[in-house]
Amino acid sequence: MSTDFDVLVVGAGIQGAGAAEALAKAGYRVVILEQLGIAAATSSRSSKLIHGGLRYLESGQFQLVYECLRERRWLLENKPQLVRMVPFYIPVYRYSKRPAWLVRLGLTLYALLSGVTSGYSRFRALRKSEWDHLSGLSTDDLVAVYRYYDAQTDDAALTRNVIESAITQGAQLICPGSLVGAELTAHGVRVDYVADGQLNTLRTRALVNCSGPWVESTNARCTPALPLPPIDLVAGTHILLPLSLGEKIFYVEAEDGRAVFVMPWRGKTLVGTTERSYCGDPRDVVPTIDEEGYLLRTLQRYFPQTRSLQDQDILDSFAGLRVLPKMEQSPFARPRETLLCCDNDKAPRILAVAGGKLTSYRVTAHRIVKKLRPTLEAAESPDGELIARSAKSSLSEKERNL
Ligand SMILES: Cc1cc2nc3c(=O)[nH]c(=O)nc-3n(C[C@H](O)[C@H](O)[C@H](O)COP(=O)(O)OP(=O)(O)OC[C@H]3O[C@@H](n4cnc5c(N)ncnc54)[C@H](O)[C@@H]3O)c2cc1C
Repeated sequence: MSTDFDVLVVGAGIQGAGAAEALAKAGYRVVILEQLGIAAATSSRSSKLIHGGLRYLESGQFQLVYECLRERRWLLENKPQLVRMVPFYIPVYRYSKRPAWLVRLGLTLYALLSGVTSGYSRFRALRKSEWDHLSGLSTDDLVAVYRYYDAQTDDAALTRNVIESAITQGAQLICPGSLVGAELTAHGVRVDYVADGQLNTLRTRALVNCSGPWVESTNARCTPALPLPPIDLVAGTHILLPLSLGEKIFYVEAEDGRAVFVMPWRGKTLVGTTERSYCGDPRDVVPTIDEEGYLLRTLQRYFPQTRSLQDQDILDSFAGLRVLPKMEQSPFARPRETLLCCDNDKAPRILAVAGGKLTSYRVTAHRIVKKLRPTLEAAESPDGELIARSAKSSLSEKERNL
């Protein structure tokens, strides 16, 4: 029995977009199923940074930082209309948890990981005479201010751009369309989904579950369900305030020592993020009053001119959900690598993606193509069994261009 598609990707967040683009570029017939809208969930509620993540050095995630910095460079060079470098400022106060020497050490390592010849790695301590030009940053007890560079994007626009590229490469998008069930058959995967109020069925050779915080519920709709590692959903909130602090990002410590970003966003100021365990339907995640208060206090601690702002001055706030491995450690210290899980290592039919970063979506997509290649490059016998077939050379070349 022939299939309608080679791969069904569930979810049009950045991971689904990246997977669909890479698979379509590699010459496969791809369909994307999205229940809400492109980037309607986590991929429009991030901190909007394309970065290695300076703070992940504290938890020893060097490979992740290196990979993300390499991706940052690729995105800056290939999507300059969506990703741009911004100066970041780290003020160190007498009471800061991270002393100046530690910040300098972290920045040195960050520069080395980003490649000192890349031109994106420069950092320095500002002279005291420059402190007055930092958008009103408090100088009481200030010991040092470091400046380095990292990148900012519009996460939703980036996701839309990658979906458009996937469509240009031949992928189809069903949106809104919601997965109801998927069953492994002798010939591939039979998928039931609802679109336009109708129950439909399609057949595909493989299914990739990129449903972000819904990864477990989508997995539960698959037969057989994959043995996913235990995960936690951790909510993160941002608030938007009606003032501009210039085209600078400030990397400050909140009252509990967590790193918080104060960022320019469409002429206003975005402050985030928080970390709070979340149980429940991912559709229902919203900022709490406590989170909004915590972020406003963090801003006011460093920018005295904002101390008159009240809760009601917050223009907007939004919350997103991180998918992190369940562990004893605080969310702050948990690994941010992407987990890939599949039904069968040799020729997977069902693949689930959990966690990961906006920045590294292409790395994840490349891993997905590699995992699925044995399944998609095999011909099928009339009874549906896979017969190994050598890869078409043009496919490998396209994949090299990812
Ligand atoms: C607060 C916060 C800040 C972050 N900041 C950064 C940052 O600055 N830089 C960075 O690199 N990363 C950041 N991240 C991480 C990054 O945002 C996420 O890794 C990324 O957006 C996840 O994308 P996704 O495609 O996996 O999930 P999502 O964007 O959530 O997409 C999943 C999609 O699947 C769809 N779906 C689910 N179930 C079904 C179904 N049954 N049928 C059809 N569709 C379905 C959903 O509707 C949704 O659109 C941050 C994350 C959070 C939470």
